[in-house]
Amino acid sequence: MQTKILLDENDLPKKWYNIQADLPKPLAPPLNPATGKPAGPQDLAPIFPMELIKQEVSTERWIDIPEEVRDILRLWRPSPLYRAHRLEKLLKTPAKIYYKYEGVSPPGSHKPNTAVAQAYYNMKAGTTRITTETGAGQWGSALAFSCAFFGLKCTVYMVKVSYEQKPYRKSMMQTWGAEVFPSPTNKTNAGRTILAKDPNSQGSLGIAISEAVEDAATHDDAKYSLGSVLNHVLLHQTVIGLEAKKQLQMAGEGHPDIVIGCVGGGSNYAGISFPFVKDKLDGHDIDFIGVEPKSCPSLTKGEFAYDFGDTVGLTPLLKMFTLGHDFMPPGIHAGGLRYHGMAPLVSHLTELGVMNAESYNQLEVFDAAVKFARTEGIIPAPESAHAIKSVIDHALECKKKKEEKTILFNLSGHGLIDLGSYDRYFEGKLTDYEYPKEKIKESLKKLPKVC
Ligand SMILES: *Cc1c(COP(=O)(O)O)cnc(C)c1O
Repeated sequence: MQTKILLDENDLPKKWYNIQADLPKPLAPPLNPATGKPAGPQDLAPIFPMELIKQEVSTERWIDIPEEVRDILRLWRPSPLYRAHRLEKLLKTPAKIYYKYEGVSPPGSHKPNTAVAQAYYNMKAGTTRITTETGAGQWGSALAFSCAFFGLKCTVYMVKVSYEQKPYRKSMMQTWGAEVFPSPTNKTNAGRTILAKDPNSQGSLGIAISEAVEDAATHDDAKYSLGSVLNHVLLHQTVIGLEAKKQLQMAGEGHPDIVIGCVGGGSNYAGISFPFVKDKLDGHDIDFIGVEPKSCPSLTKGEFAYDFGDTVGLTPLLKMFTLGHDFMPPGIHAGGLRYHGMAPLVSHLTELGVMNAESYNQLEVFDAAVKFARTEGIIPAPESAHAIKSVIDHALECKKKKEEKTILFNLSGHGLIDLGSYDRYFEGKLTDYEYPKEKIKESLKKLPKVC
């Protein structure tokens, strides 16, 4: 009974897979909000190094992973693929459940897969400081970790409510050498504008992005880095799916029938899915399911439209599923899934019907997390637990229909820094919250106008 499928160090992919080469219909370009015209490299140059801008728009199918980046990824990659025998047994399902475990990275999630690459290209371009935002702290800690390898300074704007609720993520960032500020701050115009309106603002990911972008745009030595959403970020995450494909073959599986990942900005889901999306486009029958919280339902209840990536309106306009850029997410515990928008590539493929989406409430998600921990042993991040809830439901459907499907999901991170959320769940203090339709409508009224 094979449980753990491991690759050799040398099997770490040498190239990233770029799905832009294989899209059935090209992606709508980002727009410059001032002119309404497609944003060119020069629009992005103040905040990103040129190599990453090139990757953002590239339509080359395979892009080389630099050796220096592979050297660092090798600290934890290739990551293991597990067969969830004990969860299958608990569910009495004929389905075969496999999960790719990204919690083995030192920061504990998939995010360093792109953070290392982004830090590397910045170092190459002469950047000395990288600014970023972080919600729950996963991205900030991944970037702080990566900057440490390349001697870069790292400034993190951390959503205030998380800064106060998740002190250990802040400690990790500081240990790896980053400076961390609770956002909104008094350091940027964006932060001061928000504070003038609401001195007690608890912050949001959109606000923190505005602050980090402004900091980079107004300082010559600094560039900005985003942990999800953008094409180059999703590209860097494809190592997950490329490895998983080899591992499934080693386990004697053909193609998976269902591929599942939780979605915040869409990067870990894209990472495990895109190499298999190519197979679907080539004719294989595969379902892709991005799983989001009912309290932040961009893919299932948002609108597919041009919107800003941040709250204040500094970024280019992206065509994506969005709840509106001033969407104020309720304080649910899956902090990493509270973004108002969704990666343009994931949005595009969902709009085309190649990928699908589901949403769940947080109580059923924590219930799934606990089932998983008690069978498979790993305590999942609350974000990842959204994927687990969906996997369990699909595995139970397989039982009903007596179908022996192969389900693959991405376990995007461990939950060891999120035990406070588990405590609140056990104490009965977590409640379900479905984002009201009327509020979404209101927020969507403020979408920027493009002709
Ligand atoms: C940040 C995060 C997510 C959500 O981000 P995506 O870009 O949608 O992948 C999911 N899981 C974990 C563990 C995270 O840290």
